[in-house]
Amino acid sequence: MPKSTFRCAKVAARTSAPQRTRLRAAALAAVVLSLLLTACGGGAAGNGDDGKKVVLTTFTVLADVARNVAGDKLTVESITKAGAEIHGYEPTPGDIRKASKADLILDNGLNLEAWFAQFVEGLDVPHAVVSEGVEPMNISEDAYQGKPNPHAWMSPLNVQVYVDNMVKAFSELDPDNAEAFKANGDAYKAELQAVQDQMTTRLAGVPEAQRALVTCEGAFSYLARDAGLKELYIWAVNAEQQATPQQITRAIEYVKANNVPAVFCESTVSDAPMQQVVGATGAKFGGTLYVDSLSEADGPVPTYLDLIRHDADVITKALTGAGS
Ligand SMILES: [Zn+2]
Repeated sequence: MPKSTFRCAKVAARTSAPQRTRLRAAALAAVVLSLLLTACGGGAAGNGDDGKKVVLTTFTVLADVARNVAGDKLTVESITKAGAEIHGYEPTPGDIRKASKADLILDNGLNLEAWFAQFVEGLDVPHAVVSEGVEPMNISEDAYQGKPNPHAWMSPLNVQVYVDNMVKAFSELDPDNAEAFKANGDAYKAELQAVQDQMTTRLAGVPEAQRALVTCEGAFSYLARDAGLKELYIWAVNAEQQATPQQITRAIEYVKANNVPAVFCESTVSDAPMQQVVGATGAKFGGTLYVDSLSEADGPVPTYLDLIRHDADVITKALTGAGS
């Protein structure tokens, strides 16, 4: 469990290191510097208002899984809000202040959160990588070829590994409640197995000729593998270089060549590129899938288990033509 080391004397050296975006880095560094100076003056990470320790996750999916493991013993919050784009997120000064007061930060890892290393640099808060121990699938296309696909949570069986890592991290954070974390984790892992079985059973109903999942981001590799679907996407990972004319042409050609009946896009990006594919082929727009964020509480996927059920349902209905 890596814990960031904290030395007040190193602050000046850190702020002069080469950064991806100079202006943003300068703004972040100024906030971190002021926080560190406060910490040097005797401030320290503390508990929440209700006395519970505070766990901060990088995105809403992890927060929901973490709440299932934490039960009522810890306060769990997400840095990014429902609906946010999470790969290239730019943390605000408020996020950094919040993180400096947390007792534990959880990130997905596998290069999901491009902003995370810089975000935690200089914060005296332990963090745990919840995908540790998951067998990653590699990205086969684009600039990310050969890199791990970060969306490992799209297999509920991988999320069982996330749960084990959370049980371990929470038990180190709050040893008095270790038994509760273990019991909560075991109960939730049973739910994950059940939703995995439902998902694969549901998608097994899609006839062989229609078993192709075409999405905007290449975020469904783990789900497609588990469900036995072929996968094609317009771009590999949400980033600056997405939906180029070449990428859209490739998707159009694939849809035409394979008579793909329906295509999809995700809730956190514009579906305009996929509508171009729809316009150029005979495919229908099959619906919005959720992957990088839950919906708000009154939306279609307030929990991770809902997210998997919703996506399996939308994909199955669109590819089989049911409900149209
Ligand atoms: Zn993504």
